[in-house]
Amino acid sequence: SKSVVWFRRDLRAFDHAALHHALRDATQYGGSVVCVFVFDTGILEGLPRDERRVRFIHASLRELDAELRKLGGGLMVRHGAAVDEIPRLAAELDARSVYVNEDYEPDAIARDAAVAALLEAGGRSLLRFKDQVIFEKNEVLTLAGGIYGVFTPYKNAWLKRLAAQPEAAAPWMIEPHAGALAPVPEVALPRLAQLGFDDGPLPAPPGMAGASELFEHFLPRLADYGTARDFPALDATSRLSIHLRFGTTSVRHLVRTLRQMMANGAGGAGAPVWLSELIWREFYAMILFHHPHIAQQSFKPAFDAVAWEAGEPAQALFAAWCEGRTGYPLVDAAMVQLNTTGFMHNRLRMVTASFLVKDLGIDWRWGERYFARQLNDYDLASNVGGWQWAASTGCDAQPWFRIFNPVTQSQKFDRQGEFIKQYLPQLAKLEARDIHAPWLVPADELAACGIVLGRDYPEPIIDHAQARQRTLERFTVVKGG
Ligand code: FAD
Repeated sequence: SKSVVWFRRDLRAFDHAALHHALRDATQYGGSVVCVFVFDTGILEGLPRDERRVRFIHASLRELDAELRKLGGGLMVRHGAAVDEIPRLAAELDARSVYVNEDYEPDAIARDAAVAALLEAGGRSLLRFKDQVIFEKNEVLTLAGGIYGVFTPYKNAWLKRLAAQPEAAAPWMIEPHAGALAPVPEVALPRLAQLGFDDGPLPAPPGMAGASELFEHFLPRLADYGTARDFPALDATSRLSIHLRFGTTSVRHLVRTLRQMMANGAGGAGAPVWLSELIWREFYAMILFHHPHIAQQSFKPAFDAVAWEAGEPAQALFAAWCEGRTGYPLVDAAMVQLNTTGFMHNRLRMVTASFLVKDLGIDWRWGERYFARQLNDYDLASNVGGWQWAASTGCDAQPWFRIFNPVTQSQKFDRQGEFIKQYLPQLAKLEARDIHAPWLVPADELAACGIVLGRDYPEPIIDHAQARQRTLERFTVVKGG
């Protein structure tokens, strides 16, 4: 008999829970396993032709297919609505089961429930496995059995649980059972053009090979991560977020490597800090699973009463933010980085999000949607978590009265203006001390650097001190909330 492994955000052929279980079961019961990916029209429709993430997925699938072929299998690729394609394929193959790795986003949960119902109607079943995270759902709870809403105690409980149960990070082996892979006829992968997308540069080295390359590059930098990670001009973070998003690496593999290094006294002060970031990712996934309403509403309901700016003036401010025309160089450089590369450094995600919400008074949901369209590593749980943190509406968020000053953030985290100059070359001639607030520089000095404000670079669209005052008033509706 046959079974199916449906790949979604787990595009790898090693340490893969669903694939492991399907192969092991098939080996035991004498069956074979068909691997499939669906280009889901429900997701692809509405994406622009030059969508970077589709190119990344496409390149990663080519590698996945090749790796599965080396193991004796291959990847079938379908193009259509996944809710139709998967039950249809299972029926064609007369497969008893479809194996998937669990996805915790509300839309994915609804899709999987629909697929499961259709499969069950045909006497088949959808089998779900934990793979994306080390601990999911109710695995890390408070002593009283409750759900954590604050990160640090969650992190401590997470670490304690892993220490007690290190096998939670053990790999789900593929090779020993690979004999059960069903061979797939050649050339299954449609071209990008056939899917309605343009070829073009990749946003990151794709696939499992790309993830290993980045991890190898990062490990020698790990020791300095704790101190260097806040400076966007430095090459100090892993850039693995897109790989964690699409599963071209395994979080268990990363955590095992890290724990081994820490046990050997390697990795320095940076190792536990980086591990903490991986735990933030699991924290937000857990929070979204238990509170799916946060995709649309404030985590803390009192904050739904905040009145955001609206109408045309707000639209105009929002457009300036999106396009990097706010007149605040660090904010603008960050938005140019996002728009041109699909990546933005974590410190700058905090700075730009805070600027949108607390300087421009715009609803965090507008920013969240914009990041969703642009970010290569876009992940609903982490994005909503990050936005609600910055907007002070989330769990364990920045207190609402704490408001980043975009100029001092710039002076602190891009002191020499190196990052700004990389993305705003029109400011390249400015002295480091002047680059953070060009409107304070006398016009003749600007002119000597070839800059006329309003022509070569915008005047600031808002006065930070006044905006700060308005924000404090705006948030008084939730005082004490
Ligand atoms: P590293 O510093 O090398 O960290 C390693 C990994 O840990 C990351 O790849 C990521 O998977 C995880 N991680 C790090 N920081 C966080 C965090 N604060 N929350 C959750 N996970 C984290 N991350 C996303 O993956 N997708 C998003 O859509 C996303 N949106 C964000 C929106 C805002 C407003 C903010 C403030 C943060 C957001 N983040 C998001 C978190 C973080 O900015 C990125 O994960 C990080 O910048 C990715 O770069 P890196 O891989 O070099 O990270």
